[in-house]
Amino acid sequence: MNMMNLHQDAALALASVRAEIARACRDAQRDPAGVSLIAVSKTFGADAIEPVIAAGQKVFGENRVQEANAKWPALKAKYSGVELHMIGSLQSNKAKEAVALFDAIHSLDRQSLAEALGNEISKQARRPQLFVEVNTGAEPQKAGVLPQDVDAFVKRCTEDWGLRIDGLMCIPPAEEAPAPHFALTAKIAARNGLKLLSMGMSADFPVAIAMGATHVRVGTAIFGMRDTGHPRA
Ligand SMILES: *Cc1c(COP(=O)(O)O)cnc(C)c1O
Repeated sequence: MNMMNLHQDAALALASVRAEIARACRDAQRDPAGVSLIAVSKTFGADAIEPVIAAGQKVFGENRVQEANAKWPALKAKYSGVELHMIGSLQSNKAKEAVALFDAIHSLDRQSLAEALGNEISKQARRPQLFVEVNTGAEPQKAGVLPQDVDAFVKRCTEDWGLRIDGLMCIPPAEEAPAPHFALTAKIAARNGLKLLSMGMSADFPVAIAMGATHVRVGTAIFGMRDTGHPRA
């Protein structure tokens, strides 16, 4: 594929996702300015990412610190105003790198990580937005705080570990209708006074917008299929 095709494909895909977001906002009588599109660029290199930046996209998501650190410092230096979100699970020993590189972290899900992030945020005087990940389906293999534990976890984040929590994030079980999971996440956020909701991926972001998502994380619909041989892709 030549560069011109890449540019056109990226611009078309992005325009179509943006149109779907606008439609979902209209249907839900919401202001589209209240929904931030995170283009999930994991597994894709700069050659695929640059056309998406050229098409006007500023907010990107990655799920691994090491991969993000290999790609984004150069891209951030080249293009101003790029915002980077960490959407994958985060090891506490990567907190330092994560706080330095990311503008938002969507995967805060346990005490050790909260403490590590708290330390780094004060050390680096840099505060990424923080989302607590909720395991709405109580899936044993999945990260996230159980729904019944979120209120207490958010309280401890604030009072004991000095963190400001901005919102909640969820990834509904693959085999279930996502709407009840989005609704549950929105309800828990509301009762904790949290304004941001990171929910919705390529397959279900219009539903998430109907349920109040402020951040949708869209990969495949913008970049195309990921190499399925890639672990954790
Ligand atoms: C990969 C990923 C996405 C994007 O998924 P698509 O189905 O490609 O849109 C969203 N959220 C998280 C947490 C991811 O890991």
